[in-house]
Amino acid sequence: MPRKASARFLFLLLALSLLAPVRAAAQAQNNFTYGPLPVFELHSGFWINLHHTLYHEARLRTAAAAPDKSSKTSGPALHTEPDAKPTLTPAEQREWDDAVAYYVSNYAAKDLLFSTELIQLKDQLGDFEDCDELSGRKRKFCDAGLPAKLTQVLEAAAPVYRAHLWPDHDRANRRWIMRVAPLVREQGVGLSERLADIYQTRWPREKIRVDVAGYANWTGAYTTADPLRVTISSLDSRNQGAEALEVLFHEGSHGIAEPVQAAIIRECRQRDKAIPRDLWHALVFYTTGEVIRPVLGSSGATAGDQDGSVLGSYTPYALREGLYQRGWNEYFKLLQKFWQPYLDGRASFDDAIARMVSSL
Ligand SMILES: [Zn+2]
Repeated sequence: MPRKASARFLFLLLALSLLAPVRAAAQAQNNFTYGPLPVFELHSGFWINLHHTLYHEARLRTAAAAPDKSSKTSGPALHTEPDAKPTLTPAEQREWDDAVAYYVSNYAAKDLLFSTELIQLKDQLGDFEDCDELSGRKRKFCDAGLPAKLTQVLEAAAPVYRAHLWPDHDRANRRWIMRVAPLVREQGVGLSERLADIYQTRWPREKIRVDVAGYANWTGAYTTADPLRVTISSLDSRNQGAEALEVLFHEGSHGIAEPVQAAIIRECRQRDKAIPRDLWHALVFYTTGEVIRPVLGSSGATAGDQDGSVLGSYTPYALREGLYQRGWNEYFKLLQKFWQPYLDGRASFDDAIARMVSSL
């Protein structure tokens, strides 16, 4: 994003906040925001959903064109019906294909989590979720300041998406939100305080914005910083049921786990060891799972889970999805041996990290 555009964008944000009452009246997108909740702010926004759907389709198209390359496109099977493929008119199909082609050329090779361009774009689309346009043609404050061609592409694809896919995505998003919200209301403050204590930091004072979307990235959810925002797929099989609470807090923990990473790096340097790239991430998975486990075994879980599954035997995400078996087995053993005592209050943070690193 050019500098000029971002300054303009900041101005527009300011204008938007001043125009809040007008903006509220202009909710043509029928976006859904569940609130007020503690800790998180859950959104189902039109543009961010359209953007991720186009990105997803562009990645699929790219992968289909080069089938031999291993592609991190969709993750486990999505909960979409086989007959869910919409029937588009030829004109709609053309608009949609053009938009996907634009995403193939401009974004499919970039990573949603690591590309600054894609992160800024996602955040801007989130900020303009209450606008039914992005160009500001009808309402000046709806000029999102995006590149002109992209604005045109998104506005042309919008009616097709709104007519065919958005209703399903929005319904899935709302269902996901309604399911996890009671758990967040009941357990959110306690969990956030416990996690911040563990990481020896504070949970962010501002609520963390969570964009719930039909598609997120290949891992099913991702978190970007400055501002701290989470995107979670409502259709991804890994994010369903009461487990959604763990996904939320795992992603939120990305915003506070920096002290862990810093401590690991410090200990490695002292011992002249190579810094293990993913140890901090395995630790965050482990910690969230262990903190959530007793909560989802308690009565509170019934508020969010109506399918009668046995919640007393909650299996944390990393175990359920086999993350440790895929290269993190050594970390898992270290975490059980040295980090768990810290979680149980039988060791200090510094000792636990030091012991893990010296055993690497
Ligand atoms: Zn993560």
